[in-house]
Amino acid sequence: MAAAPLKAASPTRLAYFDDMWALRSPATVLSLHQEEGGRRAVVLDATIFHPQGGGQPADTGVISAATGAPRFLVEDVRVKDGVVFHYGRFEDAAGDGCGPELDKGQSVTLEIDAGRRSLNSRLHSAGHLLDSCMTNLGFHFEPGKGYHFPDGPSVEYKGVIPPDQLQDKKTQLEKQANELISKGAKVLVSVFPYEEAAKLCGGALPGYISQDSTPRIVKFGEYPGCPCGGTHVADVADIGNLKVTSIRVKKGVTKVSYSINP
Ligand SMILES: [Zn+2]
Repeated sequence: MAAAPLKAASPTRLAYFDDMWALRSPATVLSLHQEEGGRRAVVLDATIFHPQGGGQPADTGVISAATGAPRFLVEDVRVKDGVVFHYGRFEDAAGDGCGPELDKGQSVTLEIDAGRRSLNSRLHSAGHLLDSCMTNLGFHFEPGKGYHFPDGPSVEYKGVIPPDQLQDKKTQLEKQANELISKGAKVLVSVFPYEEAAKLCGGALPGYISQDSTPRIVKFGEYPGCPCGGTHVADVADIGNLKVTSIRVKKGVTKVSYSINP
């Protein structure tokens, strides 16, 4: 008989949508998968692990049984059709490669790497902050792609900064961002009915957001919000600092690269 295809029935509840700052949470194992190349994957009913996506890297951490062992070391997290796959390996306590594994229905504790999450959240929030700074400088461009990985983060805008202004605007953008960071502002993240979400985002939502959905909105202080599925700092001050490393304009798109000190 052919093996059953790798399929997990129900979507994973994204617990970080409700509590973005939880670093530990309980969950139940729904299924275990063996992928090609020997990679293992654990599927849970709910997760605080952020899967790679929306320009943000995956969380890493540990999934452990209530008794403390076995421990599954999470090295990568991906989402497919609403199901979150935690990829990694079982900690081999005895070193013989045949230790205990998790079972379907087992209660587990999830623990994410706090340092990595904190950096990812600061980088993601820094990208959003630049959107507000661009608007403040008079560039009402539509935000495009965001890449919030530590190895050279950047944000893109559909619009062009004139070449003779690039150097000045780079300086002003960085100054503006650091002023807003020093001032600080509470970060609001929540799921809203479509109409309310649109209001929070300055009156309209981008076309890719379906009108019968309840979008998750991220909003910094009094600035207009925007739809986002990522994790963020609790206060803009927590970004700490921001450096605009370059601004490049190509084919009608302005790309702002930035960095933050760890
Ligand atoms: Zn975002």
